[in-house]
Amino acid sequence: MAALLWLLPLAWALVLVLYASPLLALWHEPAWRHPVLVIESDDWGAGDLSQAAALDALRALLKHHCDHTGRHPVMTLGIVLAIADTEAIRATAGHEYLRITLDDARQAPVLAALRAGIADCVFAPQLHGMEHYWPPAVMAAAQTDRRVAVWLAGNSLPRTEDLPSPLQSRWTAAAVLPSLPLSIPEINEAAADETGMFQRIFGNAAQVAVPTTFVWNDAVERAWAAHGVRCIVTPGTRHEYRNAQGRPAGDGRYILNGERGQNGVLYVVRDQYFEPALGHRAEQGLAALARQTACARPTLLETHRFNFMGEPADAAFHELERLLSEACIAYPALRFLSTQEIAEAMAHQDMQLIETRLPQRLRAWLARTRTLPHFTKLARLTGLVLPLWLLGKWAA
Ligand SMILES: [Zn+2]
Repeated sequence: MAALLWLLPLAWALVLVLYASPLLALWHEPAWRHPVLVIESDDWGAGDLSQAAALDALRALLKHHCDHTGRHPVMTLGIVLAIADTEAIRATAGHEYLRITLDDARQAPVLAALRAGIADCVFAPQLHGMEHYWPPAVMAAAQTDRRVAVWLAGNSLPRTEDLPSPLQSRWTAAAVLPSLPLSIPEINEAAADETGMFQRIFGNAAQVAVPTTFVWNDAVERAWAAHGVRCIVTPGTRHEYRNAQGRPAGDGRYILNGERGQNGVLYVVRDQYFEPALGHRAEQGLAALARQTACARPTLLETHRFNFMGEPADAAFHELERLLSEACIAYPALRFLSTQEIAEAMAHQDMQLIETRLPQRLRAWLARTRTLPHFTKLARLTGLVLPLWLLGKWAA
């Protein structure tokens, strides 16, 4: 019996040592005082003109709702600044890549709809990329892949969603698999071009960047940071290339909110999903809000423009409407913020939003530990749950 009493704390210590690094990281991750919700929607911008009507409808929907401070929900828009000019490319017999940019007169309805939502404070543009692909890789792929050749030189404005998935990554050359890295000068030049265009079109430097397909690397971070990007949206890890199967691949490390990358860029984690076209309903969004709020984390719900255009659109608008209505009812203290505001609050330790009280931070930490792979099981097996439970009782 006495031996068991000695063994127990030893087992607890072993589990704690084993998990020391993630447990400490979870403790240092900022804890939020209030539930926070932001809808993060990617792939808008240069391209299909029917986006204008979808954006107008989203603007109207978002303006129907308010949090208790009177703030409308914000939909951050991952903006693509250019699309292939298929007509001009055809005129060069496919030898030269040419683009239509978002400020081209042919894109005026889309840009007007974006600006109207920004003026109403319901849209917040974020940099997704000059293109949703690396143009030289798409040009190279068109030599061997007929689908890509047709995409690049078709009759109408192409949709980036129709490209083979590996080619939708901008910061790796995926004409061959595994994909090849871009050179530093190529990255620097492309980052300078896209941040410059974002600034010209929207009148502000891009502060938040969302890497396409979440493939990027240190060189991209440094180049973006040199041009004013302060925050990078991540899925909680970083992919750097496409593997032999074409899937995004990286070093597998975990990234938490508030951690820093190259030149001080701040990471924000977006790992909750609301894609009505894939069957997600309001309940999935509300469940994500509940999970994130229990962990004192902001809820960044990932969604894409494909939900809000064409056949799935009616259902998507209906579910988004329900999600926002029910979130406001279920969480009277809910705050609608933009991702930039979330990043700034963490960077400046805004005490209106970020928790500093010990019991509340402990509760958040305990809830977060339950998300660590196998930790809860090991804690149960060794009886570590008991001291953790006592800690929770104290913090309640
Ligand atoms: Zn995208």
